[in-house]
Amino acid sequence: MQTRAPFCLQTSLHKIALTAHTRQAVVVHFKTKIIMNINDKYFELCYIRRIHEFAKIDQYKEWTLGKARKEYNSLDEFYRTELEISQDMLIQLRVEFKRFNDLYSKYFNEQRKELFENQKKFLEWYDKQKESCNYCEITQTDLLKIVAIRNGNLTLNKKTKRSKGTLEIEKLNPEKGYTFENSVLSCPFCNNAKSNLISENDWRMFFVPVMKKYLDSIL
Ligand SMILES: [Zn+2]
Repeated sequence: MQTRAPFCLQTSLHKIALTAHTRQAVVVHFKTKIIMNINDKYFELCYIRRIHEFAKIDQYKEWTLGKARKEYNSLDEFYRTELEISQDMLIQLRVEFKRFNDLYSKYFNEQRKELFENQKKFLEWYDKQKESCNYCEITQTDLLKIVAIRNGNLTLNKKTKRSKGTLEIEKLNPEKGYTFENSVLSCPFCNNAKSNLISENDWRMFFVPVMKKYLDSIL
């Protein structure tokens, strides 16, 4: 009995401890799940369904056109209601998604939508590019230096396309789509000159050394 009693006591204490621990784990898991669900749902509404206007809400809710405008005073109200969160939380979500959002605003188009379907994968791919041209290796910083040297426009005729000197998303093989394997960052010089006329290998072999010399001569 003397040995049994403490053992029983220990067991019950252990049970209580386990229960408390399990309960805590469940609560943590539950909270994480809720936060994850909000993040996932926000991502879906904002970047997959791309709800940035009232007409898109009508489409999403399968309402007649114009109903969303009557239901919500603002797009923020739609997001708050849909996600069941406060305005502060919505602002916090936007802060969390800021980096992805900036890149999305810069690079998203319909043909590239596969790249933007998963935030984590996209950012991993982007970080691998090291903000430089996959061919001639010029960095975004040096491209902006050229823009400054050319008095605010990368282009010689001041046409707005490419004038800002932003690195572009380029397909290594123009016959294939914008997948993570087939997409790289390229400077406007390489992207424009290679175009769909020169293969990736030929570009690297025949033109990249010359392009590097040319860009060095400007900088
Ligand atoms: Zn380049």
